[in-house]
Amino acid sequence: MQTEKYDLAIIGAGPAGMMAALRASECGANVVLLEKNSMPGVKLLMTGKERCNITNAETDVRKFADNFGKNGKFLISAFYNFGVDKTIIFFNKNKLKTKIERGGRIFPEGDKARDVQELFLRLIKKNKITLLTNCSIKKISQRHNEIEKIVFDDSEIKAKNYLVSTGGLSYPQTGSTGEGYIWAKQLGHTIIKPEPALTPVLVKEKWVKELEGLSLKNVRIYVYQNNKKQDDSFGEALFTGSGMSGPIILNISKSIGKLLRKSNVNGETSLFIDFKPALDFSVLDKRILRELEKYSNKSIKNILPELIPKKMISVILKLAGIDSEKKGHSITKDERKKLRLLLKQFPLTVKSLSGFNKAIITTGGISLKEVDPKTMRSKIIKNLYFAGEILDLDGPTGGYNLQVCWSTGYLAGENAAGK
Ligand SMILES: Cc1cc2nc3c(=O)[nH]c(=O)nc-3n(C[C@H](O)[C@H](O)[C@H](O)COP(=O)(O)OP(=O)(O)OC[C@H]3O[C@@H](n4cnc5c(N)ncnc54)[C@H](O)[C@@H]3O)c2cc1C
Repeated sequence: MQTEKYDLAIIGAGPAGMMAALRASECGANVVLLEKNSMPGVKLLMTGKERCNITNAETDVRKFADNFGKNGKFLISAFYNFGVDKTIIFFNKNKLKTKIERGGRIFPEGDKARDVQELFLRLIKKNKITLLTNCSIKKISQRHNEIEKIVFDDSEIKAKNYLVSTGGLSYPQTGSTGEGYIWAKQLGHTIIKPEPALTPVLVKEKWVKELEGLSLKNVRIYVYQNNKKQDDSFGEALFTGSGMSGPIILNISKSIGKLLRKSNVNGETSLFIDFKPALDFSVLDKRILRELEKYSNKSIKNILPELIPKKMISVILKLAGIDSEKKGHSITKDERKKLRLLLKQFPLTVKSLSGFNKAIITTGGISLKEVDPKTMRSKIIKNLYFAGEILDLDGPTGGYNLQVCWSTGYLAGENAAGK
């Protein structure tokens, strides 16, 4: 069996592993980067609908960290060390210009995730990092509380330090299949149960199929369980063939997941869409009345486009029990009330989340209690480091999750370089 020796061996060439490799080599380490796919950054290529939302323009470190809930404080050192400003400088310095879009989302100026991947490939080559692709690591050997070697095919690699950046469990077809969790557990780490997050929601109502592809802007979606409001979010959403997706839904999917896990006790989880959040019930009622009077001789199906997207009309009328041919002047007060209710509280019953195949991120992972936030070093195995999605960290959409990879990768790289 052939044995190679390095200062640092990194398993997983996603955004976190690649950033760690660059930083460690800048610090003078002889680095090997091991990737089971035929090329690094397969998931990176899919990010931001293939445009790669690199980070978010929120430069206040604490506000940025708040997006990760109570686990956000773990990130403070990593963000101070290499945060949004330095990330943007890093990309710009390496000839990738960036631009800011709505919500502070930062993208490559050329709108191509491939440009980000190519930048890393170029730098990996320039920094003489040994990149081994098609190399699926099967085993990490430990002696006392140190890693001794990693084993694959008919080779083994020995290094002073090891970094595991194998990602989570979301979109497993990209290579993120969770081996890192298994090794970490065998090495004595606690794994907070990985669950899908930032995922579409499936609903029970079959008629959503009729709304497939309809995107909604400036709506508010409420999440209810046990007759109590549990969460809400404002912005854009999208009907899929079997439920809903889009930014609002992805961002509230984590709390929906938690509610679903309690549904045995608390009952069903419901969504209510407010299509007119700027209008209260009485103002909306006046608005509907005005349209009905203005177009009193038109059928209701031809009046409603003034108030809601065309694709919704037949569903809304069916749910309200109103004949679509009924003229504006014949709509009763009771029917108007039903319409008003559906425009403010359009109900859907959650069946489940879409699962890891469609989840943007994994919530859960390596317990942060067992990793030093100032170095990303394991508190259990002294020559082991972690970075990226494998850690128990998940943020909302908007570039937050890739920033975790850049910041934890950079910090882990400079500490694991051992120079
Ligand atoms: C569709 C989609 C769109 C997204 N868009 C955005 C966005 O625009 N902005 C944003 O901030 N975040 C986005 N994300 C989230 C972001 O992609 C992840 O947070 C990020 O890729 C995690 O990086 P990572 O390096 O930790 O892990 P990964 O990117 O998952 O990389 C891990 C690597 O490890 C390799 N590996 C695993 N096991 C082994 C093994 N046994 N041996 C060798 N190699 C192994 C894998 O093949 C993989 O290449 C998106 C995610 C998805 C799925």
